[in-house]
Amino acid sequence: MALVVQKYGGTSVADIKRIENVARRVIKTKQAGNDVIVVLSAMAGETDRLINLAHQAAADPDSREYDALISTGEQVTVTLLSMVLNRLGYKARSFLSFQIKINTDRAHKKARITKVDTRKMREELKKGSVLVVAGFQGVDEENDITTLGRGGSDTSAVALAAALKADLCEIYTDVDGVYTTDPNIYDKARRLERISYDEMLEMARAGAKVLQPRSVEMAKKYEVPIYVKSSFSDEGGTLVTKEDKEMEKEVVSGVTYDRDQAKITVINVPDRPGIAARLFTPLAEHNIMVDMIIQNASVDGFTDLTFTVSRKDVKQAAVLVQEAANDIGAARVEIDDSVAKVSIIGVGMVSHSGVAAKMFTILAKEGINIEMISTSEIKISCVVKAKYTELAVMVLHDAFELEK
Ligand code: ASP
Ligand code: MG
Repeated sequence: MALVVQKYGGTSVADIKRIENVARRVIKTKQAGNDVIVVLSAMAGETDRLINLAHQAAADPDSREYDALISTGEQVTVTLLSMVLNRLGYKARSFLSFQIKINTDRAHKKARITKVDTRKMREELKKGSVLVVAGFQGVDEENDITTLGRGGSDTSAVALAAALKADLCEIYTDVDGVYTTDPNIYDKARRLERISYDEMLEMARAGAKVLQPRSVEMAKKYEVPIYVKSSFSDEGGTLVTKEDKEMEKEVVSGVTYDRDQAKITVINVPDRPGIAARLFTPLAEHNIMVDMIIQNASVDGFTDLTFTVSRKDVKQAAVLVQEAANDIGAARVEIDDSVAKVSIIGVGMVSHSGVAAKMFTILAKEGINIEMISTSEIKISCVVKAKYTELAVMVLHDAFELEK
C-alpha cells in the first residue's frame, strides 16, 4: 500500500461533471489499495475573477484581505469533491490549510511554506478517509490566511507529499505531460517520458506553464518524484525525477518562451559605485522581480543599463526607475513591452560546447535580432521581438532535433 498525493488543476475541476471525473480517478487509486490525499485548485477562471473583484473594491487592496479573498476558490472545489466522494460511498473530508496547519511566512501573495503539521492528516488517513486539501493557501503565525503565488497549488501538493514522505505526487492537468515545447505553438512538440528536476525547474522559470517553479524546487530538495498527467486521459505522463545517464545524452531537451517580458533601458547612467543599487532597490522593495540584467561597458564614464520585468509590473517599474534615473543623473529611460524571451534547456549542455553559438546562428539565419542574452549551466535565453516568438521556437526545435 502506497501513499499517493494527487493534485488537480483548475480545468480538471471546472464543473461538477469534471469533479465527478476526478472522483472516479481518486476512487480507482483508493481501490488499488492506496491512501490518497487530493489537493485541488479553484475552478478554472475563479481565482482571476476574485482578483478582479478585489481590484474593483480597492485600487491597492489590503494584502491580508486580498489573500483571504482569493483563496476562497479552493474552498468551493474541496468541499464539492468531498460531497461527490461521499455520495459515491467513499469517506472523504475536506481541509483548509488552517485545519491541518500548513504554516507559511507572512509574505502575502507569495508566501513560502515553513512547516506542515502531519498529525491531523495521519489521523484521518488511519480512519480510511480520502483527504481533500485546499491548495494555494497557508496560514501565518498570526493565523492570517496567505497564498503561495499563482499556480501555488502545485507547491501545496509537493509540500504535503514531502512532509508525509508520500510514494508519489501526481499532478493532473489538461496536458498529458511535459513537452519539448508548447504543442499549441509547434505541432512537432514531443512528450518527454522523463525529465530531471533541474531541467524542469529551468523550463518552469523560463515560461513553461505546467508546474509552478517553487513546486519543482521543493520536489528536488525533498526528492519527491512528480508525475505530470492529464486528468482527461489514461495515456502519457512525464516523470520529473533525479537526473540519470540517459538524460545527460540529450544536449537540449526543451525550448520554452515567455511573452510576459518587458524591457527597460536606462540610458547614459554615470558609471560609479551604488548606481545599480539605487536603481534596483526600489524595485525589490515593491516586490518587482527583475529577470535579465545587462550593463554595457562604460564609455567616458557613462553606461547603459538594460533589464527585463514582467509586463504586469512595467508601469510601476517605469515610475520607480524614472525617479532613480533623475536622482543619479541618467539621460532617459526607454520602455519596450513587445519583447519575449526564448530559451533552450538541457543538462547535456554542461558537457557540450558550441550550443550557444548554434542557437545564435539559427536565430540569425531567420533574421531574428537578439536583444539580450543570459545563460546558466543548463539554459540559454535570448530576448527577441515578441513577433518572432513562434518562429524562434520552431527553428530552434528543428535545429536541436527535438521531434526525434
Ligand atoms: N487557484 C490558484 C491560481 O489560479 C492556484 C492554482 O491554480 O494552483 O493561481
Ligand atoms: Mg496550474
